[in-house]
Amino acid sequence: MDEKLLENAFQAIISAQRILIISHIRPDGDAVGSLIGLGLSLNAKGKSVQMVSTDGVPAIFSHLPGNNQIQKKARGDFDLTIVVDCSDLSRAGDILHGKPIPDINIDHHPTNTNFAKINLVDQNAVATAEILAQYLEIFGFPITTQVAEALLFGMITDTLGFRTANMTPKALKIAAVLMEHGGNLPVLYQKGLLDKSFTAARYWGAGLSNLEKEGRIIWTSLSLEERKAVGYKGRDDAELVNFLSTIEETDIVIIFIEQDDGFVKVSWRSQPAFDVSLVALFFGGGGHAAAAGATIKGDLKKIQTDVIAKTKAILGLQETFA
Ligand code: AMP
Ligand code: MN
Ligand code: MN
Repeated sequence: MDEKLLENAFQAIISAQRILIISHIRPDGDAVGSLIGLGLSLNAKGKSVQMVSTDGVPAIFSHLPGNNQIQKKARGDFDLTIVVDCSDLSRAGDILHGKPIPDINIDHHPTNTNFAKINLVDQNAVATAEILAQYLEIFGFPITTQVAEALLFGMITDTLGFRTANMTPKALKIAAVLMEHGGNLPVLYQKGLLDKSFTAARYWGAGLSNLEKEGRIIWTSLSLEERKAVGYKGRDDAELVNFLSTIEETDIVIIFIEQDDGFVKVSWRSQPAFDVSLVALFFGGGGHAAAAGATIKGDLKKIQTDVIAKTKAILGLQETFA
């Protein structure tokens, strides 16, 4: 990372008193972990901090200390706005609508649009939480046990337990430092990646029974009706996509989750030879080469057909299926 940029970010944070931190809609473990990790550290540094997530905090993250400080709306004025784990401004929700551009953008998505005054984007980082852990140490900001827990949680969840293809020795070293600061790896791993509710397991059942395969692409859908039938409370796939990625006979996994607002959430996962962020970008979303997403308006079945065709076309898979 450019030292001048880091110095500018440091000065901006030091001279601010009221700081707003925002993470992305439909928050994942890295979004929540980064928000809490940075928020609690700046709090401990004596700053007045508001941590905001438009969609609140999903129940699966309620074990993280500090999660109750996250609000759905920003209140009052701020001297500094920091956006974490968002590849573009629309990911921040409507909090910044009509406001000046944010001051600092801290992220690790290759599709990041550099939307802030100071853009600290490191594509080689496995999680935004990894970048934050590094900066907090460089800046000399407090890494309390709670900060370490939150950041380690972000790293564990974005790497599916340090096993994604983008893992680096540096990320493992940073995770080790977070453990030294009190991050409980086994507990965070269990809570972030293994624990599942009974309704989530039944919801997986619906997704698994809809599973289809053509060549080395597999896909499934989760309709609103199926979600209601099992009583699953979230609007996501209960991480089914990550399980589907472990199926041996596949390079690309796509999951379609029908929403109650006329949209369909699409998630792609791929083996290293394929960059699914290109397909997600085409549909107005974004992400990483191996994990990307988009939210598309329209009918579930039609979107399914369009997305599968486009995925094959963009990734050059057409001939395999002829
Ligand atoms: P998901 O499929 O939601 O688990 O997301 C996989 C990756 O793609 C994550 O890094 C997300 O931050 C990113 N992503 C998901 N949906 C979108 C979207 N609509 N726009 C930009 N990035 C997204
Ligand atoms: Mn995220
Ligand atoms: Mn992330």
